[in-house]
Amino acid sequence: MKITGVRFVRVQGTWEYDGPLSEERLVRPVDIYPEFRAMGATSANYSVSGSGSPYKVSHIFLFIDTDEGVSGMRGPVQESLCHIIANQFRSILVGEDPHAIERIWDKMYRQAIHGRKGETMMAISAVDLALWDLKGKLLGAPVYQLLGGPSRDSIRAYASMLGHSIEPDKVRERARAVVEAGYTATKWFFRHDPTEGEAGARKNLELVRNVREAVGPDVEIMFDAWSSWDVPYTLKMAERMREYRPWWIEEPVMADMIPQYAELRREVQGIAISGGEHEYTRWGIKALLDARAVDVMQADPTWAGGITEMLKIAALTSANGIPLIPHHGAMASTQLIASQTITTCPIQEWLIQSGKMGQVFLTYQIEPKNGYIELPTAPGMSMELNDDVIESRQELEL
Ligand SMILES: [Mg+2]
Repeated sequence: MKITGVRFVRVQGTWEYDGPLSEERLVRPVDIYPEFRAMGATSANYSVSGSGSPYKVSHIFLFIDTDEGVSGMRGPVQESLCHIIANQFRSILVGEDPHAIERIWDKMYRQAIHGRKGETMMAISAVDLALWDLKGKLLGAPVYQLLGGPSRDSIRAYASMLGHSIEPDKVRERARAVVEAGYTATKWFFRHDPTEGEAGARKNLELVRNVREAVGPDVEIMFDAWSSWDVPYTLKMAERMREYRPWWIEEPVMADMIPQYAELRREVQGIAISGGEHEYTRWGIKALLDARAVDVMQADPTWAGGITEMLKIAALTSANGIPLIPHHGAMASTQLIASQTITTCPIQEWLIQSGKMGQVFLTYQIEPKNGYIELPTAPGMSMELNDDVIESRQELEL
């Protein structure tokens, strides 16, 4: 059996979404520059356009075709990654046995000697996920079954509130709503960095207080600084946040500042330090573990090297006694988590807005019920386009 081709298909359609969308964005490291800080929430949104529902949506899907007529699929995939796949990996893929995922991964990794991290590894991840989708379709089983799962009947999810307003009344209303929907944990995103001084710090603290007061004492709350703080600021904020008992502070400093992560993990009492969503491969994650940098590891299966690499990462985090709670990852995370024990991967992030957005054209969709994600039963990675919602499709010439 051989891979015969690699295709990229852009599909377009409209999306009815009646909830809030991109009301607010998270703080970013580049916000220390005024021209970046001034940017609003919608500037980061690359796949959806229009000022209200129904939105116009345009997504690209990767297909890996075989001589047996079955194709593996992954998407949506960013266009920049499609160029990397076409330019660097198509020649490796065509003619290969699609079952040989370890060998293909290793060939891509060795070929992309400058691409160990960042977009090239994200492109390798997309290929890997398409190959796992293909393998599952060929064998007629969901990927988590091929990997030794299911480890449980359903996966506890936490409501991740990226894109939601941090205006106090709205925070309280939405935080209460996710608890009423059955979630037992929720994550919110800071908007202010150390250069905004005490006024920004108070607004960050106000977010923490509003979430805790809205959800009550029994729901776990988490907060993401998206690499945008520094060590002294995080120490001060942790001190002031402690009374609200957050589970973790996420990515307090830039991903390369591993000793500073370790310092924060040692110094901050009673609040976990999480990170790793912007780290890649078993080697990047091992460096974080060796440095004792994080309490919670958040590698993303769609970025860090795909399912193939996440299995190695899960073995490392498990051996170190650190929970692996992948950054979003949607269906890829569901398949991975369902293959691992509840101690290795206890809970899944569900980005309420982006999660729904990423599934617009898919037949099988994740939709947490009462705070839990039911395990998918479709073969492979549950990747299938829903023709009913596709208004146009176009194969990209790459
Ligand atoms: Mg994050």
